[in-house]
Amino acid sequence: MAKKLIGIDLGGTTTKFAFLDSEGNILSKWRIPTEIRDGGQHIVPNMIKSITDQMRKEDYSSGDFIGIGMGTPGAVNREKGTVVGAYNLNWTEIQPVGQLIQEGLHLPIIIDNDANSAALGEFWKGAGNQAQDVVFVTLGTGVGGGVVTNGKLVHGINGGAGEIGHITVQPNGFLCTCGKRGCLEQYASATGVVNVAKDIAQKFTGKSRLLDIIDNDEELTSKMVFFLADNGDILANQIVDRVCSYLGLALSHLGNTLNPENIIIGGGVSNAGNTLLQPTTRCFQENAFPSVRDSTRIKLAQLGNDAGVIGAASLALQFRKNGPIGL
Ligand SMILES: [Zn+2]
Repeated sequence: MAKKLIGIDLGGTTTKFAFLDSEGNILSKWRIPTEIRDGGQHIVPNMIKSITDQMRKEDYSSGDFIGIGMGTPGAVNREKGTVVGAYNLNWTEIQPVGQLIQEGLHLPIIIDNDANSAALGEFWKGAGNQAQDVVFVTLGTGVGGGVVTNGKLVHGINGGAGEIGHITVQPNGFLCTCGKRGCLEQYASATGVVNVAKDIAQKFTGKSRLLDIIDNDEELTSKMVFFLADNGDILANQIVDRVCSYLGLALSHLGNTLNPENIIIGGGVSNAGNTLLQPTTRCFQENAFPSVRDSTRIKLAQLGNDAGVIGAASLALQFRKNGPIGL
């Protein structure tokens, strides 16, 4: 029987798991709440228990699997399998995650950051279409990214490659959580869209349902901005244009540097679909070098919430004894 893969997508509120075949097809998937109290010390034992329980339920043993791949927030040391600085997990000190899971499940594990894992997922089984050069940007609570060139993730000398969310799109712009100003994340994440909305609303004088929401201090979400833009709200359309112009500009820089076959946009904000994609593509094309403009395509992600577990599982292919190493 062909051996299987385990993918883990660790997030601040839920941890997603999947068993996959070595072609990347999900055989089963499940999720548990991420228990971040007490300095996040329950997270790894909970993961080990959940996988053990699921193996028992499906009548599997460790011998049925090639290995485990995991995507996590924070800074990852891939050689040591450690994670640090994952503040949404309360992991401020170095966590020996790889060692603990390996000992707990008797399987080899490789860990990478969550955005890189999602990028690998879309590269392998999603909108990447298995092209060898793909850039993935995820617009969620923050903005993350992953860069695949020649079929391999780019990490850089200190793991900082692919930090697309911190490309400066507005010199001296909004202050970012990273300490600098004008990062894409402050304009194109779910909270970024709301930042832009509040900024533009200050100078807007026309009639707008969105302006009423802001003036009445009702809760505003990026989803509402895109919904109202779709329904002809002038202010909402100005906001979407601004957000997409920043996003398209950042993507043109990536396009001009890497000329990938596909630039894939995922994450919750990308659920806006064509309302996001069309103006972003327009701005990308205005700022892309001609040979890039004619060849690099901007696409929406296809795997949704499964991108993380699928991409994480692909990391474990390197433990395969037979056949080519890696993807
Ligand atoms: Zn930043």
